[in-house]
Amino acid sequence: MRVVLLGLPGSGKGTQAKLLASRNNVPHISTGDMLRAAVASGSDLGKRIKHVMDSGSLVSDDLVFEVLCDRLKSPDCATGYILDGFPRTLNQGELTTKLLAERGEKLNRVIYFEVPEAEVIERMKQRLAKEGRADDDEQTQLKRIEVYKRETEPLVDYYRERGLLSELDAMGDVENIYSRLAVLASADVSAA
Ligand code: AMP
Repeated sequence: MRVVLLGLPGSGKGTQAKLLASRNNVPHISTGDMLRAAVASGSDLGKRIKHVMDSGSLVSDDLVFEVLCDRLKSPDCATGYILDGFPRTLNQGELTTKLLAERGEKLNRVIYFEVPEAEVIERMKQRLAKEGRADDDEQTQLKRIEVYKRETEPLVDYYRERGLLSELDAMGDVENIYSRLAVLASADVSAA
């Protein structure tokens, strides 16, 4: 199973990606988690990207793509993966299309999480209270939403034009959303 999850920050991609990955025995690949780990480790890479992440902007395509390519080289990615938070720009989408072609792989589905903006803002407030993520504060939230609309939303049409997009009603409780997601994500696994 090779699936991309697309949607506003706070739309529930991370929670669903973890479930989808563990229940299908494939790795959950979150570029946000990998980049946060680099920051936490205090590595040179981490030091270079901390202020970019804290401000709600995107890390450069080249850098994130390098991190992703390294991760996909691991043997656990041979049978599939759930990509959460990547691709996030049209350029990353095109790099991914080329990379998959080189690897002789196809995406099964790109799932677009549909959640109203007001709900996402509310969820991020709750996450800030619970996890204290620096980029969840109100001003940074609004910046992340603006960046999403400008940089990431064009990927919805990019994948729709390629016949890969499925829209997911991502409102409701976690298991209800998961049951809808599981159907969409495995829609044409046999084609991959
Ligand atoms: P996330 O946890 O997916 O919301 O990502 C947190 C932050 O990591 C984002 O606001 C960006 O600064 C950075 N990031 C994660 N994935 C990407 C990506 N694919 N391209 C650029 N920046 C990213």
